[in-house]
Amino acid sequence: MTTASIVSGRHWHALEDGRIQCDVCPRFCKLQDGQQGLCFVRARQGDEMVLTSYGRSSGFCIDPIEKKPLNHFLPGTPVLSFGTAGCNLTCKFCQNWDISKAREIDRLNDWAPPEAIVAAAEKAGCRSVAFTYNDPVIFLEYAVDTARACRARGIKAVAVTAGYVSDEARPDFYSDMDAANVDLKGFTEDFYHRICGGHLAPVLETLVYLKHHTDVWFEITTLLIPGANDSDEEITNLSQWVGDRLGPDVPLHFTAFHPDWKMTDIPGTPAATLQRARRIAREVGLHHVYTGNIHDSQGGSTWCPNCAALLIERDWFTLGRWGLDRAGCCRSCGHPLPGRFEAEPGSWGARRQPVRLQSTAP
Ligand code: SF4
Repeated sequence: MTTASIVSGRHWHALEDGRIQCDVCPRFCKLQDGQQGLCFVRARQGDEMVLTSYGRSSGFCIDPIEKKPLNHFLPGTPVLSFGTAGCNLTCKFCQNWDISKAREIDRLNDWAPPEAIVAAAEKAGCRSVAFTYNDPVIFLEYAVDTARACRARGIKAVAVTAGYVSDEARPDFYSDMDAANVDLKGFTEDFYHRICGGHLAPVLETLVYLKHHTDVWFEITTLLIPGANDSDEEITNLSQWVGDRLGPDVPLHFTAFHPDWKMTDIPGTPAATLQRARRIAREVGLHHVYTGNIHDSQGGSTWCPNCAALLIERDWFTLGRWGLDRAGCCRSCGHPLPGRFEAEPGSWGARRQPVRLQSTAP
């Protein structure tokens, strides 16, 4: 470690031609001394890779856990959310582009070492801390240390991520995570290549890894963009893959796109598109399919896959009727709902509350 925000990076190796290759994500950036990776926050300094944003945050906010979105993980509870700067994908529709495209570390105002984040979460009554706004894979060392500190104090750690991580770094990244929401941005290589600047296969590998090699609770989000990834065929293929490779109980969220960043010429997603996608995924056999970013109580609520009873009523991020018993099973038929549930739902509601950490930068 050289300064408070610059720490030695993990997962890299030297190449024979004198460059260093970062092995954190499938971009495998090959860098000369002084160069930054595409993500902006990892760089080569001398003969090693470093993370330059350790302990630096773009801001903290207490959100409902449903906003991540996670519908089967401690429903109704508040989560302390934060991000840093940079990203390892280049999505033209980015909804957080002011953070993910940030190119100045000065934007990272809050000095926030892991212990201070956990203390702030405890003080605010948050049950979990979420790495969100930009992808935590690129600040892996900071995210893992924070997740570990959270676990030590009984606070859960949540990764909101595109799942674009290498085989080598994946186990390290998820080792201390309790939950994740993984963006599955589309279901064609063409969409990933043209719109996101990445590849589909590593994301699918992350989902399979989470399901078959970890205890991390995870849900999937697909942002539907009119004319880009919302055809019946693509939604059917995506849903079938989820059912075949991950099983029918993994929740799938279809959320609405808003014109942003480099895709301002495309209109927002109509509610009917999200509802069509939900219908297709349910017909394919998935049990928990949600519409998001719209008012749709039917599509936003959780229903028992066994007896069709209402289990968790939602209107956007606000919970309504509760149909689970204290063990997280359907009160009508006893069918267990997959996820992580407590005896009672939380009561945070839809509030969004900015938080300022008081830590002093060294
Ligand atoms: S994490 Fe950053 S530096 Fe490393 S390969 Fe990915 S984009 Fe490049």
